[in-house]
Amino acid sequence: MIPDCLILWERSLAIDAVAQVEKILHDFWASAPGNSLQLPSGEKAWGAPRVAIARGDDPLFLRNKELIGDFLWTPAQAYALAFPHLPRPAAGQLRVISYLLPQTPETLADQRRETAMPAERWARSRFHGEEFNCELRLHVAGVLTRAGHPAVAPERLADFDYRRSPRFGLASNWSERHVAFVAGHGTFGLSDALITRWGQAVRLGSVVCRIDLPVTERVYGEDYHAWCLWHAKGTCGACAKRCPIGAITTRDGHDKQACFKYIRDVTAPYAARTYGTGATPCGLCQVNIPCERRAPTGLS
Ligand code: SF4
Ligand code: SF4
Repeated sequence: MIPDCLILWERSLAIDAVAQVEKILHDFWASAPGNSLQLPSGEKAWGAPRVAIARGDDPLFLRNKELIGDFLWTPAQAYALAFPHLPRPAAGQLRVISYLLPQTPETLADQRRETAMPAERWARSRFHGEEFNCELRLHVAGVLTRAGHPAVAPERLADFDYRRSPRFGLASNWSERHVAFVAGHGTFGLSDALITRWGQAVRLGSVVCRIDLPVTERVYGEDYHAWCLWHAKGTCGACAKRCPIGAITTRDGHDKQACFKYIRDVTAPYAARTYGTGATPCGLCQVNIPCERRAPTGLS
């Protein structure tokens, strides 16, 4: 027997498919116990999710592959890995649902006060919040698949991995930031983080699905840096001033190696020791900047 929720889903899909996808995300965000900083206050790890959608055959997915390395999956490659037994759809029959989870006002306020180590709430969102994000990816893919629209969260595939990009150094074979850029969420900043309509202080996730959904308008076209004040106007550089080790400069941008080393050797052990969290938190460059909670005025 087909569950009522799936019948309702199919009926309402015709009415407003994007709103249905947003509802899947929102309901899980609102009710899942995992969306928690695991503090006595019981507060959530994230603000409400926001969704943007790209076509699976958007030429920018191939452009990203050229930029980063041949190891980077296209949506069609990720789909084929997840569903080897199903007929391969044309890339244009796929949609990439990219979502973001904003940091909460409390987490932002705490992190703004820090200058060398991540705040406790920030470390908790990076650890417990990302665990929830992994649940959310699988939940969205599961609901869509059960409704007859095969869907995969590429970041959750067993083959998800990190490789060496000739141009960018260590890079994963599915980049949530690059997917979000293609989907219209925002553009890259001097610090390499994505500046979205809801700022840089967000966590990203995505799902590839065989479904017909309207695509989000990408108002910045193919400009990878349109919403960064430094790239657009030669001003700002606030993220560089926030980095305690000078891993961001207006001359060379983001020094990924130096950043990685500081996080691995200093902030991650500090967070483990002090807050009992895992993962690799830092993010000092993502707050107290003009693009913390929104794209800079006049550029987006
Ligand atoms: S803080 Fe300024 S320079 Fe840094 S990413 Fe944001 S807009 Fe660009
Ligand atoms: S995340 Fe990296 S670039 Fe940003 S403040 Fe920390 S060390 Fe600096």
